[in-house]
Amino acid sequence: MSKLKLASYWAAACGGCDVAILDINEKIIDLANVADIVFWPLAVDFKYADVEAYADGYIDVCLFHGAIRNSEGEHIAKLLRQKSKVLVAFGSCAIAGGIPGLANFKRRDDILDRVYIQSDSTQNPERVFPVTRYQVLEGELELPEFYKEVKCLADVVDVDYFMPGCPPTATQVWAVIQVIASGNLPPKGAFVGCSNKTMCDECEREKTEKKVKKFYRPHEIMVDPKKCLLEQGLTCMGPVTRAGCGNQCTSANLPCRGCYGPVDGVIDQGAKYISALASVVDADTPEEADRIISEIVDPAGTFYRYGLPGSLLRRAK
Ligand code: SF4
Repeated sequence: MSKLKLASYWAAACGGCDVAILDINEKIIDLANVADIVFWPLAVDFKYADVEAYADGYIDVCLFHGAIRNSEGEHIAKLLRQKSKVLVAFGSCAIAGGIPGLANFKRRDDILDRVYIQSDSTQNPERVFPVTRYQVLEGELELPEFYKEVKCLADVVDVDYFMPGCPPTATQVWAVIQVIASGNLPPKGAFVGCSNKTMCDECEREKTEKKVKKFYRPHEIMVDPKKCLLEQGLTCMGPVTRAGCGNQCTSANLPCRGCYGPVDGVIDQGAKYISALASVVDADTPEEADRIISEIVDPAGTFYRYGLPGSLLRRAK
């Protein structure tokens, strides 16, 4: 059997997805037996020109991490789509914007102003901002345009599969690579390396009737290691989040942050969670309900932490 030609790319992301691939540890040697790396900027010194020189469809599988934040990300997404038979949106950022997608709560100009003018470590009295063209001795440089909003990979190209997680767990990464290498591909558009159950379905904590009088942040209480975290007043996203990570956060007494995104059939994870919370708030009056809800710190940033660009909201208007 001929080896797979595998590519991996990192657009607007933290790099954790690339580390998740390296986290398969000694299986990286097995990976070398089933795949040749033909583009992976983190690990191998290929250039964009090398990819441009490949025939269309030359790459068997491309794992694309990261959201689309600027014109360079979109350009490379389109190039890799053209050169790849199978394109996988790998990780929360590529699927729904991820942490970089939280920038959609701010306007582009406010972000640039914060970074290039207001930040404490910046001195910029001439108010120099990024430009897309710049003249140097060697000629004119063309630089990426910083977009008004963060986009998902599927907003700019056709995507074959979606592999959620921030990052996807190493065991899931290896399982998916094996499936791809075997040629037994699931139907186009499938979510791979995960389950279609919710985190709560797979969580072994004791669940009773959920009645919350007060919400807390994890450092504000001594967490009962056996009881459901939502019942203890922590905003655990388990009821609305796809399982597959192995319950890593809840096993460590931390509430699920929702990085695997919503299960099939749920369009907006944040809206679904608001609905779930409404059913657990234990208030006798509307005023008490207001008080309980208003004590949740950063609700928008919590409920849409990994998927604002992929949600119905998309961005602050
Ligand atoms: Fe487990 Fe969180 Fe669901 Fe409670 S809300 S059962 S802690 S995943």
